[in-house]
Amino acid sequence: MKNLKIAIQKSGRLNEKSVQLLKNCGLDFENYKSSLITTVNNFNLEILFLRDDDIPGYVAQGIADLGIVGENVIDESQENVTYLERLGFGRCTLKIGIPKDSSIISLQDLDGKAIATSYPNILQEFLAENNLSAEIRQISGSVEIAPGLGLSDAICDIVSTGGTLKSNGLKPFADVRRSEAILIGREGLAENPILCELLQRVRSVLRAKETKYVVLNVEKSNLSQITSLLPGVKSPTVVPLAEENWVAVHTVIPEDDFWDKINKLKAAGAQGIVVMPIEKIIL
Ligand code: ATP
Ligand code: ZN
Repeated sequence: MKNLKIAIQKSGRLNEKSVQLLKNCGLDFENYKSSLITTVNNFNLEILFLRDDDIPGYVAQGIADLGIVGENVIDESQENVTYLERLGFGRCTLKIGIPKDSSIISLQDLDGKAIATSYPNILQEFLAENNLSAEIRQISGSVEIAPGLGLSDAICDIVSTGGTLKSNGLKPFADVRRSEAILIGREGLAENPILCELLQRVRSVLRAKETKYVVLNVEKSNLSQITSLLPGVKSPTVVPLAEENWVAVHTVIPEDDFWDKINKLKAAGAQGIVVMPIEKIIL
């Protein structure tokens, strides 16, 4: 069967996590920083290492079948690609930032102002959605210095912690769009068996990351109360302990309400709670 090609970022914020995700899917490959392409030894896949900005275009044109890239870059590119999976890393927000002492107070105040950005398409869409007309000044990097240089009244750029804004005398003003890394595919790839296998693996890795394996001890008299708190993958496993009237319960707990669940389990009589990471969950 013909190999699929996946494009990932060569170096930068998405590189390491993209490589890690593929490795967690059981793919064995050398991660040579110097090469543009590498072949996976145990799967019908080749990996292309590219600048992130080029990835949507390569996928849209079918040069790569798949890609891992930030939603911000996909949207800005306006290329036609299919979203296959949200990957939960590379989270950031494209925001409007304004000088600390700016007279801009409401969104309407942006009307007629100049905004510097390297995301002109996304910004244009945001302005249109809000019935605003501002002048978009496109610059390719170091956008946050534009207001200080008198180049613009505001900026639109990616913010994760806000540190860069602050150190340039700016403050966040409005969220334009959230972003995370996405697994994208070219049109018409849906039925490909290599993709189906890869997607199953990616999903099992993502699912595992969202859950923890929990083992706890409980007196038999409290067991029904404990099991009612635990959906598990199917139902919890209950194993007798050497000490009479006690059992060990094995289950998985979602990461998002983890502490809430643990506290409820403790209150219901759970003891000796051990929590372990899960590598994969295959349903
Ligand atoms: P390249 O050399 O591949 O063009 P780049 O400099 O354009 O890289 P990076 O800074 O490595 O891009 O960011 C890649 C992606 O990581 C961004 O497009 C965005 O989706 C995501 N990201 C997550 N957090 C941040 C952040 N704090 N700043 C910038 N990008 C972030
Ligand atoms: Zn880039």
